[in-house]
Amino acid sequence: MTTTAGPSTPVSAVLAATGETPGPRAVTGGPGLPQRRQLVTELPGPRSRELLARREAAVARGVSITFPVFVVAAGGGILVDVDGNALIDLGSGIAVTTVGNSAPAVVDNVIRQVQAFTHTCFMITPYEGYVAVCEQLARLTPGDHEKRSALFNSGAEAVENAVKIARIHTGRQAVVVFDHAYHGRTNLTMALTAKNHPYKNGFGPFAPEIYRVPLSYPYRDGLSGAEAAARAIRVIESQIGAHNVAAVLIEPIQGEGGFVVPAEGFLPALAAWSKAAGAVFVADEVQTGFARTGAMFGCEHEGVVPDLIATAKGIAGGLPLSAVTGRAEIMDSAHPGGLGGTYGGNPLACAAALGAIETIERDGLVERARAIGARVLPRLRAVAARVPALGDVRGRGAMLAVEIVDPATGRPDGAAAGAVARRCHAEGVVVLTCGTDGNVLRLLPPLAIGDELLDDGLAVLVTALESLAG
Ligand SMILES: *Cc1c(COP(=O)(O)O)cnc(C)c1O
Repeated sequence: MTTTAGPSTPVSAVLAATGETPGPRAVTGGPGLPQRRQLVTELPGPRSRELLARREAAVARGVSITFPVFVVAAGGGILVDVDGNALIDLGSGIAVTTVGNSAPAVVDNVIRQVQAFTHTCFMITPYEGYVAVCEQLARLTPGDHEKRSALFNSGAEAVENAVKIARIHTGRQAVVVFDHAYHGRTNLTMALTAKNHPYKNGFGPFAPEIYRVPLSYPYRDGLSGAEAAARAIRVIESQIGAHNVAAVLIEPIQGEGGFVVPAEGFLPALAAWSKAAGAVFVADEVQTGFARTGAMFGCEHEGVVPDLIATAKGIAGGLPLSAVTGRAEIMDSAHPGGLGGTYGGNPLACAAALGAIETIERDGLVERARAIGARVLPRLRAVAARVPALGDVRGRGAMLAVEIVDPATGRPDGAAAGAVARRCHAEGVVVLTCGTDGNVLRLLPPLAIGDELLDDGLAVLVTALESLAG
């Protein structure tokens, strides 16, 4: 079907041209969608290509697209595009739709809330949903100390606020971050993020008092957790001074930086050092949080209890919400009015979060994430045993990755990883890449995906990876 829709076409006309009626459930996604990959056009199909042309004329090119198929519905492990193709989603919109797209508890809560009221600003006239989300965060995050939370909109905003809180609590300024770290795209979080292109290049000047130290990267450095921590601590003490450190900020498993799982003992050693130094240990659990790694939070795998935890992505089933949760005495260091924002903890996002949390617990999604890891990792390791370009297979739960290298030199091979991703895309399987060198294929399937669909997606990925044996 063709549409002549253009920039001035009303939404109703666009929907009419697609045979859909306007309204909240105009196109029904959610787990009721048939859980089957099906391609009816080449990808992207003709209607996606039309929309791509409109996008080029209207959307800034700085906002780039990984896989240009335009989605009309999604649920379980399936994305349906405007051309009627059903694709397998192994990315969850970057670890966001952990509970599945349009998960019923999320949809029901949001519909009820949107019909009641859409916004008051919690800082002006409050509402229960915000408080209820903070209560859930206190219950779910590691540690049984007294906790407080503050809600925001994006992961970057949560990380920025964690830094603000750590600074006012300690009266210190220095923030320790790690090689390959990713913490966001705002001015402070660009400074916290490691990779120059595309995140930082030309966008400076960056915020001061940010210090980068070496990470534990077992595949690359061969160090034990204790050795890698000693290396990082040596840099901190000699180049910053322990008494100047406000916060040590780390992703328990790095996300955009390459799904790097630190060697055992690295995180506990840094947490212990922070405590002794009077610095605030901040876990950026924006990508690892909410069941993704086979624990509610990534820190739990090593029994680490952070002082502050930043969360976002998987927290609200697709609605924009983020949080900082932590020790009451640290969180309450910030004076009234010092934290907040117009939309932070928006009532729709809070309603969605309560639905997402309910779904994670009711459906046993922490266990599901572990089962996904147990299903996928051995198959990827079997390919790695045959294909030397697969330098490393790693991850926890449903946060899994393959690092692609040049077998002759062991150097990162971003071009090969990109080629594998494109092959998967052409077959209707959404996979993402990451890593400072773009050479890591990452899997973040929705935990609502069924085994059959997961196996189908994995088979496509395995075939694409085997092409590297060539
Ligand atoms: C995505 C991400 C962020 C930034 O979150 P936004 O919502 O995109 O601002 C921060 N930290 C980590 C670990 C992330 O994965």
